[in-house]
Amino acid sequence: MIDYHSVRQQVIDTSRKLADEGFLKGTGGNVSVRVSGEDALAITPSNQDYYRLNADDICVAAFDGTHIAGTLKPSIETGFHSAVYQARPDVGCVIHTHQDFASAMSLIAKPIPALFDEQVRFLGRSVEIIPYAPSGTGMLAKQVRKSVQNHHNAYILKNHGALCLGPTPERAYHNVLLLEKAALSYVLALCADAKVDAIPFLIREIAFSKLRSEQKKIEQQLAGQKG
Ligand SMILES: [Zn+2]
Repeated sequence: MIDYHSVRQQVIDTSRKLADEGFLKGTGGNVSVRVSGEDALAITPSNQDYYRLNADDICVAAFDGTHIAGTLKPSIETGFHSAVYQARPDVGCVIHTHQDFASAMSLIAKPIPALFDEQVRFLGRSVEIIPYAPSGTGMLAKQVRKSVQNHHNAYILKNHGALCLGPTPERAYHNVLLLEKAALSYVLALCADAKVDAIPFLIREIAFSKLRSEQKKIEQQLAGQKG
């Protein structure tokens, strides 16, 4: 049997960092890491205390939902995590949180524009709102699959929470922090009842092209490995 220990440990380490920062809200949210070379992911189990989990509790499942390893029930959102990996070969880690300010933005159907250079470099041109669908449904997975085609790395799930992607767990975690900063700044700026300025168009495009060229490099490497 293949040893999934290191990928499962990455899921645990990332979940604990997020829980330490208060991004998961009890047993909310979920974290997955792509199993390299397989059409599979390692994902947090449903409704479990993140501090009591050990690597063997982390579920490993194929993208079609087939159970591979782990005794606990996988997160109900495994469907949309799998949808991201299938739509986006550059993504190695998916994090779904109920973080405060991105959740506040989920109540307003208003994408976060390009407010900061660093935001665009790592998250994309804007943070778009993924239309509402109930948790754990195929409908939500379908909305996510469609939305992530714009190559961004952060989204807001309408009336629910946030979705961040990254090539590695470290970068996906970094993107969670960046999203929260952008959401907090935008919420406060909207309260000021004054015009909110985005960064200049040209700077936005330069920053986004850096993200895209990094993603293309990963896609090419993977295509090369497949031969
Ligand atoms: Zn959720």
